[in-house]
Amino acid sequence: MKTVIEKLTTDLNRQDQQIIQKAGNIIREGGLVAFPTETVYGLGADGLNPSASRKIYEAKGRPSDNPLILHISCMEDLAKIAANIPPKASKMAKHFWPGPLTMIFQKSGMVPLETTGGLDTVAVRMPSHPVALALIQAGGGYIAAPSANTSGKPSPTMAEHVALDLDGRIPMILDGGAVGIGIESTIVDFSEEIPTILRPGYISQEMIYEVIGEIQLDPGLETENSGISPKAPGMKYKHYAPQGELVLVNGAQEKVQEKINYLVKEAELSGKVAGVIGTDESVDGYHCGIVKSIGTRQDEETIARHLYAILREFDSQNVEVIYSESFLTPKMGRAIMNRLLKAAGHQVIEV
Ligand code: AMP
Ligand code: MG
Repeated sequence: MKTVIEKLTTDLNRQDQQIIQKAGNIIREGGLVAFPTETVYGLGADGLNPSASRKIYEAKGRPSDNPLILHISCMEDLAKIAANIPPKASKMAKHFWPGPLTMIFQKSGMVPLETTGGLDTVAVRMPSHPVALALIQAGGGYIAAPSANTSGKPSPTMAEHVALDLDGRIPMILDGGAVGIGIESTIVDFSEEIPTILRPGYISQEMIYEVIGEIQLDPGLETENSGISPKAPGMKYKHYAPQGELVLVNGAQEKVQEKINYLVKEAELSGKVAGVIGTDESVDGYHCGIVKSIGTRQDEETIARHLYAILREFDSQNVEVIYSESFLTPKMGRAIMNRLLKAAGHQVIEV
């Protein structure tokens, strides 16, 4: 299959609208289109069409028990796919939609089990990216979309990443440039008594607390090897991983630099291509290996935005082992570290 890549502007001029209509027709006919959202690029299909949803799993090599998020473009559509929407969830929707928030509800009969990985709950999000909203409308209103990467790889934050993973497997990629946030949406489960964060993201526990009060973290999230499995099926898989081995080094900045310099030298002596992930503030302190800055600690959003791209850059340079600083920054730190720890298979050196 030939994959067409269509470049779009975010102000959606007439030509962009025409491209989106074409993409919408592909979705309506049961096909796949990759598209930008404010979090990461998504791989979309008609979420109410079981065979279209199945195509997503095939194209990504995604395990069939890992449910998809259903994307909508207007508030009224929520009640058609979700049953039992508690008032707190409506409050959240008013506050954070359109935006990087996914909420889980009991599903209605309209949503096929192929979209929910066999679960009787459905994950719903209204993204804020203009291309995503326009495509959802053009595609019939309900686009099921996971991240548009091959299963297990870092999520795509640029159309080029999507093409590397899915070229020849899908008919169209909408290229809206680099995304703004760079890590996936916060997932909050409203299908049980106490609202629970199943995946941390840009919208933090504190931000949610300010809107609805009590909000807990899924205990399966933070505890590796505790025997508690995370409630979002996708969170149990090895994820976001570069080809090289990733190791995090955690501790006081000076000690971290000393340790990483030592480890890189050791790796190079044993003939390995080694990489370092630091920040604008620290990169000058690394003396060997391929050193990259992920962003600045002055603005933690830059760290989230560049996380996946930097992992993919190391892949393209055939880096075999990557040593990274930790980024437990004030707001997005939990989300950033959740992705990095998974990408590293929880290999952390404390100094
Ligand atoms: P992705 O779109 O690649 O970020 O993957 C979607 C994430 O949402 C995965 O971690 C899924 O396991 C999670 N998810 C989707 N639907 C549900 C659901 N009904 N219950 C729990 N987690 C869900
Ligand atoms: Mg994903």
